[in-house]
Amino acid sequence: MKVTRNSIRTTEGPSEWFTGAAYIDAIASPSGVSPLNASSVHFTPAARTAWHTHPNGQTIYVTEGLGLVQRRGAPIEVIRPGDRVFFEPGEDHWHGAAPNRFMTHLSMVEVDDKGNSATWGVHVSDDEYAAAPTVDEP
Ligand code: MN
Repeated sequence: MKVTRNSIRTTEGPSEWFTGAAYIDAIASPSGVSPLNASSVHFTPAARTAWHTHPNGQTIYVTEGLGLVQRRGAPIEVIRPGDRVFFEPGEDHWHGAAPNRFMTHLSMVEVDDKGNSATWGVHVSDDEYAAAPTVDEP
């Protein structure tokens, strides 16, 4: 058993991987036999990941706000607290906040045998992002 107190610094998502400001809190890091890499990611309004894939897939679980997800070749979908999304291994995708809302999700991935959790591609352009459905509700 190992207790890690609330002592790990929040890191800002690197600009190579994110558009806009996103903040990452580590939950679990791979060690020993466990390949689990888990984190809590806070996206500011309109912030999103770049296009990317995960070697062993990824589950995200929305805890706050309103978010957007898209896999390559499909429309953008709105995600809300309590929604979870699984991305298949190698499936090209992005995830982020709605234009006018924060969004927080938990992220769970298993690293590959080289310790990689993702392969990063190009940023989601403003035009791609602008194709999101309207999420304002009455
Ligand atoms: Mn992902």
